[in-house]
Amino acid sequence: MDLVDAHCHLDFKQFDKDRDEVIERAKKAGVCTIINSGVDYETNLSTLMLSSSHDLIKVTLGLNPNMIHETDVDMTFELIEERAEDLLGIGEVGLDYYRMKTSKKEQKEVFLRAIELARRLDKPIILHSRDAEGECFELVKGLDRVIFHCYGGSASLMEQIVDRGFYISLATVICYSDSHRKVVERVPLENLLIETDSPFLSPFRGKRNEPAYVMEAAKKIAEVKGIWVEEVADATLMNVKRVYGI
Ligand SMILES: [Zn+2]
Repeated sequence: MDLVDAHCHLDFKQFDKDRDEVIERAKKAGVCTIINSGVDYETNLSTLMLSSSHDLIKVTLGLNPNMIHETDVDMTFELIEERAEDLLGIGEVGLDYYRMKTSKKEQKEVFLRAIELARRLDKPIILHSRDAEGECFELVKGLDRVIFHCYGGSASLMEQIVDRGFYISLATVICYSDSHRKVVERVPLENLLIETDSPFLSPFRGKRNEPAYVMEAAKKIAEVKGIWVEEVADATLMNVKRVYGI
């Protein structure tokens, strides 16, 4: 079985002591591709560095709305543009009205800049959205390819998102969150990705998450939908290839 972890942060310091072992465990668990996402200037650089030494690690570069005041926004966008050939998509970018580390106005300005860049470079957007899914959807509607990373919105909005042909990426949080149940039940396999968002959102609560555990998300989806786990793996692998053109 070939699995893809569609979103994680293996460059984060939580993996400094055993990063290579974590990657080996992922391979043994059947993970053939790991998509590592930058969240600011520094982590965009460390993401690029990580992928240059591991074939299975692919890159998306972005600026998480919570990092706007922690990083140099202009330098971040310049780096993304310079390294356009090395990245699969722009993200994570978006709006976070849950943590609200930056004003809505400023978050939106940066997000619109990212949308413009995605359009110009013809790359998919990987959305980070908390308590702002509807507004994000309105802003990206005109794009070709959009992935709602770690989707936490309603089932009815999810239906509009997939009707538009976009993708819903479900994280290992679904293994213990009842609020995601309806989305898991109803999301079509053709629009589904799975991810760990490692080191966060471990299916084994309180522990560090890692890409090998993406299997737990696949199992949970298979159980809720009453299908084989292989079907979940095949569909999500095909979707990753389709949306990123790889
Ligand atoms: Zn993330």
